[in-house]
Amino acid sequence: MTIPTWDSAYSGEAPPPWDIGRPQPVFVRLCGQGLLSGRVLDVGCGTGEHALLAASQGADATGIDLSQLAIDRARAKAAERDLPARFEVGDVLSLDRLGSGAFDTVIDSGLFHVFSDEERGRYVASIASVLAPGGHCYLMCFSNMQPGDFGPRRVRQEELRAAFSDGWAVESITAEQFEVNRDFGMTSAQAWLGTFRRN
Ligand code: SAH
Repeated sequence: MTIPTWDSAYSGEAPPPWDIGRPQPVFVRLCGQGLLSGRVLDVGCGTGEHALLAASQGADATGIDLSQLAIDRARAKAAERDLPARFEVGDVLSLDRLGSGAFDTVIDSGLFHVFSDEERGRYVASIASVLAPGGHCYLMCFSNMQPGDFGPRRVRQEELRAAFSDGWAVESITAEQFEVNRDFGMTSAQAWLGTFRRN
């Protein structure tokens, strides 16, 4: 899928395929296991469902996205639901300004798979620059098991392992599914969930 600007994805009548109006069930499960805790950063947060999920369970949650429209929507949801999550417009490829060790947990739902090969290295270094040692990144991306070419680029397990090879422990990579909006001809897509711990 070619997206001219990220704001354009959020400016139509209908929401984009990934913006399902609730958190992905995989992250609801992780949250139920108490894993989305402490100071949580939702990178490429879109309209904020995962930061809001973490905030609803007591985390100190922040969401960052390039799209002002998505951040406006996330802030409106936080106000409607009376949840204390913070949302900021920003580029997650340069997070170091937020300070070393500023977060305990990073959530990536559908961000990694938008990056080029070159951006992947910058992205992983950027989240490492703000994640405390021992902190976790939970990342869900489209997988090579997903047939067809609708949606973002497919990612193989080996590519995830390579991206997180330096300064991280790969705790697990498991096959999961994204839910997507029904009007895009499918209701789910094959995904990988990676759990990475910063050394
Ligand atoms: N996590 C959200 C959105 C996934 S779509 C959800 O699960 O619904 C990918 C999101 O990443 C989009 O909202 C897009 O605006 C954002 N994005 C893409 N590149 C980015 C970057 N460099 N910095 C911050 N956000 C980015």
